[in-house]
Amino acid sequence: MPERRVLAAMILHEANSFAAPAPLAHFERQGVVRGDAIAPRFGPTRTEMGGFLAAGTEQGWSLATPIAVPCSPAGPMGAEAFAAFRDALAEGARAAMPLDGVLLALHGACVAEGEDDADGVFAQAVRDIVGPEVPIVVTLDPHSNVSDRLANAANAITAYRTHPHIDHFETATRAAAILRRAMDGEIRPRVHLARSFQMRGFDSTRTTPPDGPARRAQAIARGMEAADPAVIEVSLQSGFVLADVPHVGPSAAITADGDEPRFAALGAQLVRFAWDERDNDTVKLLDVPAAMAAIRAIPAGPGPIVLSDFGDAPGGGGYGDATNLLRALLDDPIPGAVFASIADPAAAAAAHAAGVGATLRLALGGHVAPQHGGGPIEAAFRVLRLSDGVFVHEGPYTPGQTGQFGRSAVLECQGVRIIVSTWQRNILDLQQLRIFGIDPAEPPLIAIKCMDAFRAAFAPIARTIVTCESGGVSSRVHTSLTWSKVRRPIWPLDPDAVVAQAAGYT
Ligand SMILES: [Zn+2]
Repeated sequence: MPERRVLAAMILHEANSFAAPAPLAHFERQGVVRGDAIAPRFGPTRTEMGGFLAAGTEQGWSLATPIAVPCSPAGPMGAEAFAAFRDALAEGARAAMPLDGVLLALHGACVAEGEDDADGVFAQAVRDIVGPEVPIVVTLDPHSNVSDRLANAANAITAYRTHPHIDHFETATRAAAILRRAMDGEIRPRVHLARSFQMRGFDSTRTTPPDGPARRAQAIARGMEAADPAVIEVSLQSGFVLADVPHVGPSAAITADGDEPRFAALGAQLVRFAWDERDNDTVKLLDVPAAMAAIRAIPAGPGPIVLSDFGDAPGGGGYGDATNLLRALLDDPIPGAVFASIADPAAAAAAHAAGVGATLRLALGGHVAPQHGGGPIEAAFRVLRLSDGVFVHEGPYTPGQTGQFGRSAVLECQGVRIIVSTWQRNILDLQQLRIFGIDPAEPPLIAIKCMDAFRAAFAPIARTIVTCESGGVSSRVHTSLTWSKVRRPIWPLDPDAVVAQAAGYT
């Protein structure tokens, strides 16, 4: 058999429609990798690209790898970046023709400036080049809003099955197995997409609660695959609610061999499950004063209290510079506490200029959108430590992948240690503290900007976890956010009864 020629590409971006567009430089500094540089960079990682490369080696495929863009959530992908990535993908596909198959790692929640459905555009761009017969298998983050264009352009869709996401590599391996079967002519897969009448569901796909909606839905999905050999993959997506797009919300993508009506019925069953469980959110968010009171009531013991802030989570497109939570902590300080982190390039630069041991008066954080999450904190800060801000994930989240805070410092105020960085980062890996000389097991409290992803690394060392909502741009309850493009009616924007009627549930 002649060697199979496979295109493997990765463009991951989760875009918060309510945040400022992310320019090309945002992506470049987090690592846009092209062509032959991809294999050495991603080979040692447990990312999707790492999985594609491993599968290619195992199967003896000739892989063309035009572009890999790791995920660094922010506002919509800027127009220049969108055009650059789309063109790199399309030109890579064209240059690699004739192709036997395509592996495409997308996020599924990529909005670009001027394009609500960037993921659909990426997939369709490849489809236009390879033609209708070459199988395209797409991997997704489950926090994705799957468009019809994306589902139609792909032959198969498979999203991570864990949240926190610790199965990027396994998902890529699964995608490669589907692609192999399709290229061998064993199956002719196509995607049957069902989308529910709601903006979020499946408990945001959290698999940490053992009996939560996500685990139960995944169990149903595995049962569907086991019961019918023509059902190849049942992929669940919770939606990404901070995207103001028509295709927002939970979906089920049934990848099946053929076009029987029973496949669409499976999707309908799963989105009905999402509807029935729509109020079952296993994470309860406190406002900041309630969170501080809850922390004071926790008995002393080993391990840190981990306080997570949904309101300014860079993983949800938060700016990472909101100050409401930090201000509360400085007003009622817990000595030795760690705050990770505040993105403030000017403060980081000032700390580097002043040096370790210096004391600075700063207006820290709160510069980007003070109306969301609080304005600058004016106080004196002592420089404890400086860093270049480079870290390598130890996992369980994408082990081996390099991340960047940019030039950074640890500042001290009221006995609280504050990591101040040039760029915002979701805090989800213990190395993000260790590079600053902080042993994550040691502080009495670690306050972090992250929604759920931190649990994979932090839950094992935490005494307890408290979740709060500080009013930043990644807020789940922000009343100032206005959705103008989502399809209507939809839950929770429209009354339950109207939505249920529209869905045929009443
Ligand atoms: Zn996600």
